Formats: sequence, C-alpha cells, structure tokens
Amino acid sequence: MSTGIRFDGVTVTYGRTTVLDSFDLTVEPGEVMALLGPSGSGKTTALRALAGFVEPAAGRVHIGDRDVTALPPHRRGVGMVVQQYALFPHMKVDANVAFGLKARKAPRAEITARVAEALEMTGMAAYAKRYPRELSGGQQQRVAIARALAIRPGVLLLDEPLSALDARLRSGMLAELARLHRELPDITMLYVTHDQVEALTLADRIAVMDSARLQDCGTPRDLYRRPRTEFTASFIGTANLLPVTVTADGVRLAGTALDVPAGGAAVGAPATLCVRPHLVGLGEGPNALRGTVAEVQWRGATHRLCVDVEGHRVTADLPELPAPPPAGAEVTLHFAAHDAVLLPAGTHG
Ligand code: ADP
Repeated sequence: MSTGIRFDGVTVTYGRTTVLDSFDLTVEPGEVMALLGPSGSGKTTALRALAGFVEPAAGRVHIGDRDVTALPPHRRGVGMVVQQYALFPHMKVDANVAFGLKARKAPRAEITARVAEALEMTGMAAYAKRYPRELSGGQQQRVAIARALAIRPGVLLLDEPLSALDARLRSGMLAELARLHRELPDITMLYVTHDQVEALTLADRIAVMDSARLQDCGTPRDLYRRPRTEFTASFIGTANLLPVTVTADGVRLAGTALDVPAGGAAVGAPATLCVRPHLVGLGEGPNALRGTVAEVQWRGATHRLCVDVEGHRVTADLPELPAPPPAGAEVTLHFAAHDAVLLPAGTHG
C-alpha cells in the first residue's frame, strides 16, 4: 500500500516571523520529492510539520487519506533520517534499529525479523553488535536509515542525510539511496537538501523553495530546461540571465534583435532571457551576440568564455578549444531559439 503526502496551505511561524508561508505540495505515492533551496528557506520546517514536530499556525497535512495535523509524531507512520544520525550512543546497532518497534510494542519475534531485514537492506547486517562509536560516519548513517525503515513507514523523511559525509562517501550513499528507492518502490520519500546534484540525481520531482515559499515544482529535466522563474534558473545549474525587452517586432537585448519566441510576455514588458552556458556556441549562428572576451577559463574538458555583450556578461561553456581567443578579443556567440527561455523579470526570490 503506497501512501502519498499533501501539504494544504501550511503556515509555520516563530514569534512574528513566518518561516513557512501557505505551503501547498502534493507528493504522489511512491514518489521521491526533493525540497531544494538555500539555507533558511523553510525546507526543514516543512518536513518537521509533516512529521509532527512543529505545529502549523494554519493549514493541514495529509498522509495517505488521513489528515494527520493533530496526530502525535509516532502515530503518523513516518520514518525520519537527519543529518547527524541521532543514534543512541549507549545502544548497539541492533538495539538502535529495534527502538521504534519496541516503542510501538511490536512482538519480540517480529522485532528480531524486522531488525535483521532492515540491517540486510542497508548492508549493515555484519555490524549488529557494534556500538555507534565503532562505526564510520557513512555506516552510522546506514544504521539511521535502517532504524527508520524498520517500522516499515509509508513515508520516509530525509533531512540533509548526506551533509555530514565527505564527498566520496556522499556519492556512494546517494547511489545507495537510489537503490533503496528501487527496492522499496512503495515508500514515498521527502528529501530535504540544499545540494542540486542530490536533488537532480535522486528525485522524481523537485520542489524549489526560497524565502519560506514554494517557488517552483517539476521534474529535474523540466526545471533545468524550462525553469519558470529566475530563481529556479540560477539555483538549478548555471544560467545566463539577460535583461531583454519584448517589442512588437520581437525580443531585444539592448541594440541586438533576437529571434526567440516571446511566449506569453506582454509587449513593452521587461523580461529575462535564460540560456544555459553549454548551449551557447562560438562563431556566427542564429541569435548572434557580438562582444569582448573578459575572461577565459580552462576547465579540463571545456573552456569557459566570459564575454561582455551590450554591457552584460554572457558565459559560454565550450568543448576544449585548440586556440581560445584571448581576453580583449572581439568574438561572436550564438544560441538556438529553442534553447532560450523567456522568464518574467524580477522573479529572483
Ligand atoms: P532550511 O531547512 O531551508 O535551512 P529551516 O526550515 O530550518 O530552513 O528554517 C527556516 C527559518 O526558520 C530559518 O530562518 C530559521 O532560522 C527559522 N527557525 C527554524 N527553527 C526555528 C525555531 N525553533 N525558532 C525560531 N526560528 C526558527
């Protein structure tokens, strides 16, 4: 039985400060949803409101077809994994994993079986009799995941679970989490992170947050290719964001006429043109932009060219150039109309 999640106008305040503002989000059963945003944007607060650790000032939270807003945390059927593992230091691994089941007064035989199953699933079966201090950070986090899974939750909440690990362990654990999701397709996951790579790698969809609000929501591909706001465009991947005006004849970047679809933008309205640096080419082509090279960076497989065009900086990531133009050189850049997205101006958080 899979269980979805729904936030319905959830607002959380501390004193006079609103840290989560009318938050609406539906996570489908079995889906992995990342909550992605800068530090302080309200991600953890949303997670804690769902888990039952903070009480919303307004709005409701639903898990499956139940309104759980008034339920205590242990009755919500939710497993939670946090950044600092939060294992009990005086308990061995198996006792840590058994904790939630004991609290729920599960029969002894069932506890033994479920602990073994959860440790097996996280690759920690050989460590059942160790204390947390005898484990590495990555192993401790596996135990924390096993502990969350042991209660067979319908919903697994993960709050920056990889932040405390070093880069190499992090990518290994990311693959592990992806495997767990494949093996447990019925568990709905809500995954808080400020790291776009984690969100892009793991999530079916990403909810982008900034300043206590949901800014955007979509599949990783959608948000990358067709961001709806300047904030999403700059937070997910890198983006050239150029101020343009929409005229009756088309779109203009200062003195340069561009051949890009204006979409729904009103004539006369300021807009922002978004083009990803790797989709900008060097040399003549459609949407030619003439400018002066300000900086050249060699990045191994690519060269990054920063070019001043009409008073704006345009970045192009090009396959390694045999003879890159020097700083100060006059160059032409170009991009295809279908690689550009026109965004409403002033949607940067
Ligand atoms: P994120 O997870 O996106 O980093 P949080 O949800 O943890 O953001 O925090 C959102 C805002 O709420 C932050 O400005 C934070 O300082 C504030 N905040 C979080 N918890 C408390 C608390 N217990 N008391 C007061 N302010 C809090």
